[in-house]
Amino acid sequence: MGYDLSVFRSELSKYDLSLSEEQEKQFIRYYELLISWNEKINLTAITEFEDVLIKHFADSASIGSMDSFRKIYEEKESVSLIDVGTGAGFPGIPIKILFPKVHLTLLDSLHKRVKFLDEVVSELGLSDVKTVHGRAEDFGKDPSFREQYDFVVSRAVANLAVLSELCTPFCKVGGSFISYKGDHGAEELADAKRALGLLGCEVREEKDFTLSDEEFHRYLFDIYKVKPTDKKYPRPAGTPQKKPLV
Ligand code: SAM
Repeated sequence: MGYDLSVFRSELSKYDLSLSEEQEKQFIRYYELLISWNEKINLTAITEFEDVLIKHFADSASIGSMDSFRKIYEEKESVSLIDVGTGAGFPGIPIKILFPKVHLTLLDSLHKRVKFLDEVVSELGLSDVKTVHGRAEDFGKDPSFREQYDFVVSRAVANLAVLSELCTPFCKVGGSFISYKGDHGAEELADAKRALGLLGCEVREEKDFTLSDEEFHRYLFDIYKVKPTDKKYPRPAGTPQKKPLV
């Protein structure tokens, strides 16, 4: 079957990104695996090809608009990035396909989704990708993960005050947590300001944009790690959600 990737190419061109033949094949194979595994396990409610191109692939790729990410990606030989609550691999897998120098860790608390990701990594021939099954609250305390990453990314996992406690412990000092948010991004950011201060972070860059001709309102926040996160964070599994740092 022929696939038309023109809407995806047009979104990517906004960030001066293009697709090689190999990258195009990887995205198509990823789509096929997503659809076939989605019949057995719950991965996504979005299944039409063009919808996946925009709402999953192009949305994930929007990190390409962040100056801090592009600058560090250009400068460094390799860039470490963890996707917290990655689910079916968003935004981590599209980022890895588009930015191959990234050393990627995909973390999710649902084992079946991690199995799917193992298959995607193997079928797409991706190198320097590690999949991890577990909770962010636990791995954020593990010395081999804590403060080890240049970038932490996360989409659709929790509101920003909660998510910041789950994500920022993974960030190196001088690294960033890049949060992908929808319509309520601005309010969430306002509500998370105190939490960010407690976690040793500050907002460095904010993007407010739309995908696909104004159809979908999106925000990206670059939350910069200024100093080490206090050892008491993240609190034990479940506590960040029950008692957010607001
Ligand atoms: N990031 C993906 C996306 O944007 O399509 C998946 C979003 S899905 C709504 C949320 C995912 O976060 C689920 O796969 C869930 O298992 C995972 N998750 C939720 N809380 C988590 C935690 N504390 N630690 C690790 N993973 C978590």
